[in-house]
Amino acid sequence: MRHLPKPLDNPLEVFLTCIASFTNYELRNRLIACSQIIIDASIEFDHHASNSTLHQIASHTHVNGNVTSAEMVKVYTQKMARKATPGRTLYNRLKAQPRHGRCPLCAQREVTTLDHHLNKADFPVLAVTPYNLVPSCQDCNKAKLAYHPNKSEEETLHPYYDKIENDLWLEAIVDETLTPAAVIYQVVKPEGWNDILYNRVKNHFNLFGLGNLYGSHAAEELDNLRLLLIRLYNIGGAAAVRDHLKERKMSAREVYINSWQSALYNALEVSDWYCNGGFK
Ligand SMILES: [Zn+2]
Repeated sequence: MRHLPKPLDNPLEVFLTCIASFTNYELRNRLIACSQIIIDASIEFDHHASNSTLHQIASHTHVNGNVTSAEMVKVYTQKMARKATPGRTLYNRLKAQPRHGRCPLCAQREVTTLDHHLNKADFPVLAVTPYNLVPSCQDCNKAKLAYHPNKSEEETLHPYYDKIENDLWLEAIVDETLTPAAVIYQVVKPEGWNDILYNRVKNHFNLFGLGNLYGSHAAEELDNLRLLLIRLYNIGGAAAVRDHLKERKMSAREVYINSWQSALYNALEVSDWYCNGGFK
């Protein structure tokens, strides 16, 4: 998971911008009457997201007695997600935030959409609240659809609120029983983390299938390395292989210490079995 700066956009201004172009004045007036509810919901979301307690926000079927969930969802689909609409500028800006266009939830695939951290069908009041809109790939977006955490430990990470990238939490282990070699990814608990954060990261890792995703990329990388390492081994033995893997690890960690590449090269470097020919 990669941290992103929290949007500074005022939730009420975003909401009013989106609904300003509704030509159905009756609907627009009913929506405008929800302004205070939108403000209160944004404040509530911000508070709970900061404390890993978003599961405590109750789902709802109406915004108020006069605006249905479907009408509020339309504010998002028709006035923000659709091209050339008032909210599309913000939509595009949020989508463009991640470095290299990578989804912050998996840190791997391409951003193609905005994910409602609390889904818009069950939490329509938050349908256009900027803090609730996270750039995402399609796979991560779908993985969360039917997911409803019941306690803090079960909450997935939120890129605007959770910042864990300075702590080393992703580890790979070489499976020395397999030929060719393979690596297994897992979450480890850095010093200073409480159990809630540790369990949230493990839950996030499992829900989005990051172990399999990273393992697949690592398997391809191991194939690509094979010929190079055989040549290095023939020249300088295990020490030459290890030096090369260490250089790769240092270079990858300079970018991101919890990438699958950083974890992979660290695991390979510390494996005597791998450096002594496990790569063949
Ligand atoms: Zn993703």
